[in-house]
Amino acid sequence: MAQHNQPSKSALIHKKRKCDDSVPCREDDSWPRFIVIKGTEEKPISKISPFAIHKQIQNVAGTVKKVSKMKSGSLLVECSNKSLSTNLLTITTITNFPVSASPHNSLNSCKGIIRDRSQYLGDLTVEEIGEELSSQGVTDVVRFQIKKNGNIIKLNTYLLTFRTPTPPPSITLGCFGIRVDMLIPNPIRCFTCQKFGHGSKQCRGTQRCFKCSDEGHEGTNSYSESSKCVNCGESHFSSSRDCPVYLKEKNIIKIKTERNISYPEAKQIASVSNDLLVSNRPSYASKVVRSFSHENTQTRMTWPIDADNLQCCLLKQNLTIKY
Ligand SMILES: [Zn+2]
Ligand SMILES: [Zn+2]
Ligand SMILES: [Zn+2]
Repeated sequence: MAQHNQPSKSALIHKKRKCDDSVPCREDDSWPRFIVIKGTEEKPISKISPFAIHKQIQNVAGTVKKVSKMKSGSLLVECSNKSLSTNLLTITTITNFPVSASPHNSLNSCKGIIRDRSQYLGDLTVEEIGEELSSQGVTDVVRFQIKKNGNIIKLNTYLLTFRTPTPPPSITLGCFGIRVDMLIPNPIRCFTCQKFGHGSKQCRGTQRCFKCSDEGHEGTNSYSESSKCVNCGESHFSSSRDCPVYLKEKNIIKIKTERNISYPEAKQIASVSNDLLVSNRPSYASKVVRSFSHENTQTRMTWPIDADNLQCCLLKQNLTIKY
């Protein structure tokens, strides 16, 4: 009898696609969590007493979530609610020395991807979509496209910029809900020195061959060369996605993006996680890392945060451990 009360499969799909009023508007969510407080040239923050800084932040805004020092010497303050953030932006002095506060340029926004497989958005322009999605915290929309046989083909994948540190799990396109995936960029490798983390324009290193790792040539020649990686010394090209240094970088960027933290913080977490993995089960870990390096699924790979959730990650990724 109870079964008759169950909605049919098609009704379930219909219900899922019905306009969902319970999805909160993200307009209220778009206040800056991360605020930068700068001193002046004559009186940089480093010259101001940390006790005075603490007292003044407390007076102006209240108890903030976290205060850290940036490479530039300015303070990065993380606020846990809108009123703290709004108040902190009004700070102008600390112990009579002028300071200025402004939202952090990149930490207060993030990018997410939607795959519009049902083509809800049809031929709407990115401007039209951006306008409609503005109330859900979207500030920019880019549609992916590819060039094929000289023609530009528009894909149904869109890159959205949100004015929040992390993207929402889903948004609504009018009446339809759609999942938002976090954009995790691939590591940048310099085409000059072959190291990770910077591009050729910022390179201060010397030209190394991406094939044999020798100095003085680029590796763009057509003849075959013996392979040696600049980054790990193993016998593969420096461009190899199997390179353990590339995979390490990829993991750091993943942690950085998912937790919305700085690169040095993410690097520290990644190294602690790797240490844990190795020190807990040395033989097990080394076997796993070796077998990972032979998988051809780097783009879908998730590295474990610790040894205990390794199996869980592998199951999610449909990867198998080779013993
Ligand atoms: Zn370089
Ligand atoms: Zn070479
Ligand atoms: Zn390598």
